[in-house]
Amino acid sequence: MVLKGISGSPGIVIGEAFVLEKQEYCIYRHTISPDKVRKEISRFRDAISKVKEEIVEARSRLISRIGKSHAQLFDAYLLILEDKAIRTETENRIIKERVNAEFALQETIERILKTFSLLKDEYLKERARDIQDIGHKILNYLLGRPPFSFEEMKEGVIVVAHNITPADTPYLKAKKVKGFATDVGGPTSHTAIVARSLEIPAVVGLKEASRLIKTGDTLILDGDQGVVIVDPDEVTLENYKRQQRIKIQEMERLESLKDLPAVTIDGREIELAANIEVPEEVPSALAHGAQGIGLFRTEYIFMNREELPSEEEQFEVYKSVAEKVMPYSVIIRTLDLGADKIGVDLGIERERNPIMGLRAIRLCLKFRHIFKTQLRAILRASVYGNIKIMYPLISGVGELDLANSVLEEVKQELRIKGIPFNEKIEVGAMIEVPSAALTSDLIAKKVDFISIGTNDLIQYTLAVDRVNENVIHLYEPLHISILRLLHQIVVNAHKEGKWVGMCGEMAGDPAFTKILIGLGLEELSMSAISIPKVKQIIRSSSYKECKELVEDILGAESRSELLKIIKRKEREY
Ligand code: PEP
Ligand code: MG
Repeated sequence: MVLKGISGSPGIVIGEAFVLEKQEYCIYRHTISPDKVRKEISRFRDAISKVKEEIVEARSRLISRIGKSHAQLFDAYLLILEDKAIRTETENRIIKERVNAEFALQETIERILKTFSLLKDEYLKERARDIQDIGHKILNYLLGRPPFSFEEMKEGVIVVAHNITPADTPYLKAKKVKGFATDVGGPTSHTAIVARSLEIPAVVGLKEASRLIKTGDTLILDGDQGVVIVDPDEVTLENYKRQQRIKIQEMERLESLKDLPAVTIDGREIELAANIEVPEEVPSALAHGAQGIGLFRTEYIFMNREELPSEEEQFEVYKSVAEKVMPYSVIIRTLDLGADKIGVDLGIERERNPIMGLRAIRLCLKFRHIFKTQLRAILRASVYGNIKIMYPLISGVGELDLANSVLEEVKQELRIKGIPFNEKIEVGAMIEVPSAALTSDLIAKKVDFISIGTNDLIQYTLAVDRVNENVIHLYEPLHISILRLLHQIVVNAHKEGKWVGMCGEMAGDPAFTKILIGLGLEELSMSAISIPKVKQIIRSSSYKECKELVEDILGAESRSELLKIIKRKEREY
């Protein structure tokens, strides 16, 4: 069986499948006859006992491994299970309404969550999430689904899931997962981005993989072609093993360019930097030849935890990254939580359209204390290396002015306290929203540099959700509108004497390298594994030919004409 998806992260792996159950609940209401009421109640009580056993066991395992301080969550779970409200209300519903236990429990949980959502208290809001978790655990038993924990997963498998969230990805690394395949997602979804950072091959947007593949199946996962082959025959297996060897040899050959500059044959040098999500990626970034970090996605410090990271914790992280990448620079992007990146619960009500909701800089400007804490940590770390600050999702000068005024406020507070920081720290804006691209002339006046976030810029310009596999075929980096916007941004920034980089995934795709050089970008920041190939293309291109290519494609009137021009130019040079 061959399943076709979308390439999420390159590389070919062969291994055993481990299928994660889809954690979605479609609960139907069944009316039960009076003689079944007692049975339904005992089914519900059994499920509660099983969840309790599961939690007690997980709690003691955790305590023996990392100590008591981390057991609070489990203590909270146990308290919820002891709580009479959930039990009594659910059982009363079963008795009075004569409904199945799953439906009664779901109704109870929903009612409790609704009450909690009206509360202002942050602590209690946090407890609401625990109640929901517990509700899901009980539902899993009622529905006969086995409980899942990454902890129990075998090492070295290929994970198959309906979805893997960016917050799950650290577990994949810890479990030495060989690769993963998901039903949903596109190439610029954050799960795919993190997979590339961790160098875990991945195929996304497979639609039905988690239904069609069974745990234990042998899989070939081809992250380059976006294909998963289930239970392959001997010939196919041999074929892929050969391809795997060739790829490894090619990587080794490209790695030999590591210490050479990314300079075109006619002398234009492009800075190649790496995108990182966590500080642990710095050594691999440098090993692949990155000349610094062009995007540090700091929101990952805010994931998989219940409390916000303190100023001190953030300061240590930023300082250590800055020190490690010296003499190169690190561009620290301020918090970009929201959309598909879910972190610490800030008590924001579920949004109808989170991609266009309270995310990134908008969220920071609303929760000023979080923004200020981060800026203080960055500024304090700025004396230990070459740090630049960058704001995500700026939509225009108004928002940029606001962000800059908060930065100035924090600087002033530090000055008063006599805390040192780099007074000349460079500040940049990401251009990811069409309104910012169209006003990039005004934005460029107020920043030191610009970095184009094509993942979002394409998403918002073409109105294509970057994580939705149903519309991903419409996600076109070479759409004429995108080329025009990129051109306009570079021209505007250069008029103001500012340099322009790109840190969206487009920057690391070798298919676009010549176009990006020709557009005049000074810096490209990408997943570290993409650097060698992009460097090889730069070193074998001429700036002159790249500029001509861009001039020609900017005149194209259709996608097919544009592709024809690219093909023709390839033959010419
Ligand atoms: C982008 O949007 O291109 C970008 C680099 O930011 P992120 O992928 O984190 O949204
Ligand atoms: Mg973005």
